[in-house]
Parts: sequence; structure tokens; C-alpha cells
Amino acid sequence: MNPPVGVINDADPNAMTIEQATAQILSVLRPISSCESLSVIDSLGRYSAQHVTATVEVPPFRASAMDGYALRLSECSEELTISGKSLAGHPGENTLAAYTAQRVMTGAKVPDDADAVVQQENATVIESKLIVNEMPRNGQHIRLPGSGIKTGSILIHAGDRIGPAAIALLSANGVARISVQARLKIAIFSTGDELVNPGSPLAEGQIYDSNRALLLSMLEDQAVELIDLGIVSDTEQGVREAFAAANGAELVISSGGVSVGEADYVKQVVSSMGKVNLWKVAMKPGRPLTFGELDGNRSFFGLPGNPVSAAITCLLFVKPAIEFMCGAARQNIPSLTLPLSGRLSKNPGRVEYQRAVIEKDANDHWVVTTTGLQDSHVLMSLQQANCLIELSTTSTGAEDGELVTVIPFEHYGRGPL
Ligand code: AMP
Ligand code: MG
Repeated sequence: MNPPVGVINDADPNAMTIEQATAQILSVLRPISSCESLSVIDSLGRYSAQHVTATVEVPPFRASAMDGYALRLSECSEELTISGKSLAGHPGENTLAAYTAQRVMTGAKVPDDADAVVQQENATVIESKLIVNEMPRNGQHIRLPGSGIKTGSILIHAGDRIGPAAIALLSANGVARISVQARLKIAIFSTGDELVNPGSPLAEGQIYDSNRALLLSMLEDQAVELIDLGIVSDTEQGVREAFAAANGAELVISSGGVSVGEADYVKQVVSSMGKVNLWKVAMKPGRPLTFGELDGNRSFFGLPGNPVSAAITCLLFVKPAIEFMCGAARQNIPSLTLPLSGRLSKNPGRVEYQRAVIEKDANDHWVVTTTGLQDSHVLMSLQQANCLIELSTTSTGAEDGELVTVIPFEHYGRGPL
């Protein structure tokens, strides 16, 4: 589709789409092959390496869902005698004598020949006699064996991420240990002679390294082990030493030093160790993106140096790659559609991600607004954002009130990014 007359087109015929780049990356990545056995409670945030099948029924017996009285429907139009009680963990008699009701508490076993439980609010007790005011239905308030979990059902699939609900489900089934994927080892370094660690003074021409802190905190996760390799100088030897130090890692991530600048040794060093792709991806911010396959089955991402570009490429390419390597089933990131507050201009040709905030307007309606300056070195507008607005390749911007696609940062994972 041709853009409207007078609109600058940002399309680059050599650029790939995000989907093409992702497909290429996933086609060469290998999931980690080793796994370990953990206690279920320690498996939080890990990826299951096995299917887990239910071996017990939950509940294992007919259990009361209410505090009340177990009875037989055929008898409950008469006055019943309260006889015995069944508490959770302390079952009562298993049969009811004629015209009796058994006191039962929530979670307690119901006698085999009772066919309903009347909740205590619907009955009147006069000394040891029970008058049912509201007839229960057949089977009411009795949880049948297996109504929560049936024997043989799959509780967890291989590749599922284990969250609190999975931990509860496994525990409810009596599972104490589970086999999970080993933690993926990821080494991270920053490149640039201008970079200084926070805490040290800056000399003329220097800036603080923010990308390493950004990447280390974005990727912090129970399923991975991060190795911080620090700041690497813009020399071939510096870059070589960093890769040597990253020897135990399955994934190496650097930022900076992958453009065509004279001091960019990353591409050169990676080429000598394996295969390197330098891709222009039709997105803003975020090009170029370097992806390599190193010796010893290691993979490599070279992210752009500008902090916001590093953050967005990490979200879009590195996070899905890590999930894939951890053995996770592929997930699509859900988006929302919200009215834009203000207006946005854009040149067609690239997908554009704008840092933005979802908030309520004066009429108490949810709207989305950009957080201001969108240059890729402006971290402030990333920090103030809680989402990204995604403008499609062909979009030429959006007007005030127009519905736009929004991806809350929460949708990418747990943290603010
Ligand atoms: P480069 O890709 O190395 O040419 O860097 C592009 C821009 O990002 C330059 O302005 C760099 O100073 C800046 N930059 C590179 N690495 C970092 C970093 N780790 N932290 C902050 N800014 C960086
Ligand atoms: Mg640099």
C-alpha cells in the first residue's frame, strides 16, 4: 500500500519484519536439555520438564461443602433427630439411622447413605431435633470424589511455567517433587569505552552504564542464572575476553558496539567464533539487531547501545528466545485496544513502539497517553511508562480519541518491563 502523498516512508527494502526475525531466531535456538528434580515448593517460576498425571482423586471421599446436617431427602419433611457428627479429618458414623441427621462441617466426610446436606442457616435446631426449613436438592452441598481432580487427568504439561496455582494443584494431588528444566545460564556485558559503573566519577566524554543494570533486572527470573560480565572495552581483546569468560553460558547478551562504527568489535569477534547475522528489523526503536550462533552451542544477542532500544529489543526478541530455550510453550503477548489521549504522528514503513501510560481521564475512562520524548536514549519516558503503544507498519499516526493497540508491560512478564 502506498502511503498518502507527502508522507515520508521509512520502509527499508532490506529490513525484516519482527515476525521474520523471530522465526529465524527460534529456528536455530535449542532448548536446554538438562533437567533437575525439585521439591514442588522450590519449583516456583521454573518450567516443568514432565507431564504430571493425577494419581489421587480430590476430594478422595464425599465431602460436605457447608457447615450443616447430612440427611436423607425422603425423610426430611419430618422432624429429624440429630445423631453424631463428622468434622474435617474426623469422620462420623458412615450410615444414618432412620429419621436422623448427622452434624457435618465443611470438608468433613458425609455418610454414604445421606443424599444431601442442608446448610445450617436453612434449618432450625431445637435441642437435639432438626427442622428443615428449606429442602435441599438431591446431592446438594456434597462434593463428589474426583469433582476437583480426577485420577488420570493431566495436572501440568511439560513446558508449563510453574506458578502458585500449579504449586497448589500439585500439592493438592500429593505431589512432593517435580522435574523441571535446568536454569538457563545467561551472560551479560556492556561494550563501550565511554561507559562507567555507577558509583565512580565521570570523566569528560563518559556516561554511566545503564544497559547492564537494565538487562540484568529485566531478565531476573527463577528459570535463569545471570552472569554479570561487567563493562567490556572497545578492543578486540576486550570482547574476546568477555566471550571467554562467558564460557559456561548458553546465551550471551551484549549491548552496544554492533553498529558500523569503527570501534565495533563485537560482530568481528562473533564472526570468528561462529555465525553472525546483523539484521535491520523494520521497527522503531531498535535496529540493528545482531543474533549469532557461537561455538559450543551457545547463542548470542547483540542489542543496540541506546538504552530504550536495548529494552524494547530485549522484550521482543530476547525474552521469547529465553522462554523457548527454557522449554516453554510459545506464548502470544496479549494486547489491549484503548482510546488515545492526544495525537501521534508517524512515518509508515516500520512498526513503532511508543512508551506510554494507561490511566483514567477526567471522565473516569481508561485512555492511553505517551510519556513524552521518544528518542531512544530517553530513559525517563520508559520509567514513567506502564505500556507500549504499537503503531503498525502502515500507520501514519493516530488522532485524539482514536483506538490504538496497547501492550501493558505486565503482559510481557511479571515486572514493570
Ligand atoms: P553503540 O551501539 O555502541 O554505538 O552505542 C549507541 C549509543 O548508546 C551511544 O550513545 C552509546 O554511548 C550508548 N550506549 C551504549 N552502551 C550503553 C550502555 N551500556 N549504557 C548506556 N548507554 C549506552
Ligand atoms: Mg559503543
